[in-house]
This record gives sequence, C-alpha cells and structure tokens, in this order.
Amino acid sequence: MLDLGMTIGGRQVAGQTTFAIFNPATGEAIGSVANASIDELDRAVSAAKLAYPAWSALSDADRKAAIDKLAIQLETHQQKLAQLITQEQGKPLAGPGSNFEAGAAVAWTRYTASLDMPVKVLQDTNEGRVELHRKSLGVVGSITPWNWPLMIAIWHIMPALRAGNTVVIKPSPFTPLSTLLAVQVMNEVLPAGVLNIVTSDDQEANIGAAMAQHPDIRKIVFTGSTPTGEKIMQGASTTMKRLTLELGGNDAGIVLPDVDPTAIAEGLFWGAFINSGQTCACMKRLYVHDSVHDAVCEALLNLAKTIPMGNGMDDGILLGPLTTINQYAKVSDLVAQGAASGKVLLGGEPGKGQFFNTTIITELDNRNSLVAEEQFGPVLPIIRYSDTDEALALANEFDVGLGGSIWSSDTQAAKSLAMRMECGSVWVNNHGAIQPNAPFGGMKKSGIGVEFGEEGLFENTDMQVIFA
Ligand code: NAD
Repeated sequence: MLDLGMTIGGRQVAGQTTFAIFNPATGEAIGSVANASIDELDRAVSAAKLAYPAWSALSDADRKAAIDKLAIQLETHQQKLAQLITQEQGKPLAGPGSNFEAGAAVAWTRYTASLDMPVKVLQDTNEGRVELHRKSLGVVGSITPWNWPLMIAIWHIMPALRAGNTVVIKPSPFTPLSTLLAVQVMNEVLPAGVLNIVTSDDQEANIGAAMAQHPDIRKIVFTGSTPTGEKIMQGASTTMKRLTLELGGNDAGIVLPDVDPTAIAEGLFWGAFINSGQTCACMKRLYVHDSVHDAVCEALLNLAKTIPMGNGMDDGILLGPLTTINQYAKVSDLVAQGAASGKVLLGGEPGKGQFFNTTIITELDNRNSLVAEEQFGPVLPIIRYSDTDEALALANEFDVGLGGSIWSSDTQAAKSLAMRMECGSVWVNNHGAIQPNAPFGGMKKSGIGVEFGEEGLFENTDMQVIFA
C-alpha cells in the first residue's frame, strides 16, 4: 500500500488519522492518506502566507525558470504519475487515458511558464500616462475533482504560481494519490511553503468548505459539481474571495444532414466516451438529423462494439470503470430511465464491479432524465430531429453551458450555428479538444471565469491602474 504524506511548508506530514484509497477496477485498497484536521489546513495556509512575499517578489524571468523546473520534475515522474492515475481513478494507461493525462500536465506546465504578464499602457499623452498592472493575490486555494485529478490540479496550480501566488491544494477524497506525488516531487525544487497539499475524506471535517471561508485565502479555484460550486460561492462571500468556478455541464452535439456518418463516427465516439464519459466537457447528448440518424447510429455502434473495457493497467484496454460507487448508482438509475422509454442499441445494463457497459440509447427526448441530467458515464443518449432550429433550441434548453459541437461537412454553416450555442466552447467536427492557449470556461450554471491562456492567468491577479 502506498503511503503518501501531505506536504506542508516543504515537509511531509502524516496526519493524525488516515483513510484508504481504492482501485475502482479491482476494489483493492491501494493507498492510505492523511485525513487533515482544520488545524493542519491552518498550518498549510500559514506556510503559504509565509512563503508569499519572497515568491511574489521574484522577477518574471525567475518564476518562469522555476515553473520550467516543475515541468522537468513532472516529466521525470510521468510514468509513475500515470500509473497512479489509472490505479486511483480507473482510466486506462493507453489511448486518451492516464499517459495522455500525465503528458498533458507537463505540456500545460511548460506553456504556462512561457506566458508573459506585461504592463499595459492605456494612455501615454501630454495629459498623462495610465498603466494597467497585474498584481498577484496572495494564497490561492485549489479544490479539485476526481475525474482528471492530475491534469486539473496542474491547471489550478501553474497559473496561480506563475502570477506570483502561493498555493494550498485539496484534491478529491477519491483520487488524491497522483496529486500528492506531484506536489511532493515539485517541492524538491520549490522554496518551502510555495505549494502545499492537504487531503481529507470530507467526513470528519469539510476542508473544502473551510478553505472557502478561510480569511487568509484570497482566491478559490474550484473544479467540480455545480451544487458544490454554489456552496463555495456562499462560503467565500464574507471574505470577498476571487473565484474561478469550473462546474458541471451537459454538453450537446448536433449532427447536420450533410455528414459522412462513417467519417465522423470515431470523433463522435471519443467525444462522448473519453474516460468512460467522466469528463466535464464531453458529449452527454447527441441530436442527429432524421435523414442520417440510422446511418450515424450504425457507424457509432460498429465502432463502440470494438472498444475494449477493463482494468486500465492491462494492455489494449481503452475504457475503464466508473470511479466512485455513487457515480455508478447515478448512471445506473439514469440509464434505467432512458432504457424504459428509448430504444437501446448497445448496453443499457451495469457490468461487473464498478464497470458500466458501453451504452447507446436512441429515440429519446429532452424530458428524459438521461438527456436532461449530467450523466457522467459511458453512455450516449441520441435524440432524432428534423429541423435545425429545433435542435439548437433543445441543445440550449438547460441551465448549464460548458461545451458543445456541430458536425457537418460545411464548416461555415457549422460555425454560424456554433455561435448560437449557449456554451463556453464549441467545436466543429470534434468535441472536447482543449488546448492551453484557448480560454476554457462555462456559461450559465457551468461556472464563472476561465482557465488557460492569458485570460486564465489573469484570473490569478488583481488589476491595479497607475496614473502618473
Ligand atoms: P464535487 O463537487 O463532488 O467535488 C469536487 C471537490 O469539492 C472535491 O475535492 C470535494 O472534496 C470538494 N468539496 C466537497 N464539498 C465541498 C464544500 N462544501 N466546499 C468546498 N469543497 C467541497 O465534484 P466531483 O464529483 O468530484 O466531480 C464531478 C463534477 O465536476 C461533475 O459535475 C463535472 O462536470 C465537474 N467537472 C467540471 C469541470 C469543468 O472544467 N467545468 C471539469 C471536471 C469536472
């Protein structure tokens, strides 16, 4: 069993009590981690506060160089990190799995290190000079979910550090191991206290809630469900914290009549089934024009049948289990509701352990819970439509708006439709391909603010205008 401590002020801290981490593919306990007390959270925040003046005073060039060193550390331990992700979260090593996740963590770190934060001159005339400066905030608190544990941790940590802040991160109680190791190896090259981690099972003390209210944390960056995001907003209100909230979605894809069904099948499949559907911006419902509906379903079905599901440590596996038992129960319930009124083309039943069989159900409508709710499983509900405006209205009907996609051989027509979708990112003939230079965030109840690129970096700063 792996025994990874918390890192507080550059030191390993075991914690008074511990809790176990289980492999969702096998049910085995694979690690034991500290269950932090509120006192330990306070120590982590104090360590970050103490480290802040020196870290924020570094020149831009020095902080860039320090973050480049973090990329080297992550790259050196990439293989071990990928294995831990597979063991704690379930996604396979292969395909768009944990090797990809650990590699993306390195790439995002390098890219973020390269970003500049120049002073913007708003006016330089005889009447005076006006400059816009970006100032770091202080201690940033990061709270992460279980679905892409390492990649999301890196998305939170790197822009916060690059902008001159120090960090306390709290990973999900289900998947803390890869983040614990990453923070440990990054601390080998960082000054003590710049990056701290606390772990909690959310039972004895709700450390996330305490972070939202903490007087010495200046910003929370949170990725997780919309209900938890709402609680964080409430908790953060009395200290006027800055917030970046990346919340739940229910992404729609719209297939126009002019597609080649076989050509788009692979993109559609991975757009929906990456990480067994446990991805915030993956396709959760697909609207297909009546004229191509049967051909698209057939092409998807033919492909889906060939994608192996199993223990992600084994060769050739491309889909893993559901990460948590609660998630398994939720997906089972929603699929039962979909199967009761739709036509099951594939799956429709839970598998063994925490595996849920790859499922495709068609002839559904927006009132079915499998369509209306974020299902977060290896499941694709399909809705037949005959009028494009109607499909767009159905896609925009819900109160979330993270991502969306349009599938068509006419890129211009697809782009005009894309601009009418109510969501933060829209892809044409793809779904979910994010990149470090393009801001990513949600509309409506999918969140506040963005991550990535200059815009994401600037969310880790306050603006100061100098009139001189
Ligand atoms: P969750 O909201 O249950 O938990 C996320 C984190 O919040 C965990 O670390 C948890 O310990 C912590 N937490 C729990 N209660 C808290 C409280 N009261 N205050 C502060 N923190 C608290 O989410 P999850 O089940 O881990 O993740 C799945 C959800 O995350 C899905 O809805 C998914 O769409 C969303 N998600 C969104 C994005 C995005 O970029 N928009 C990315 C990944 C996941």
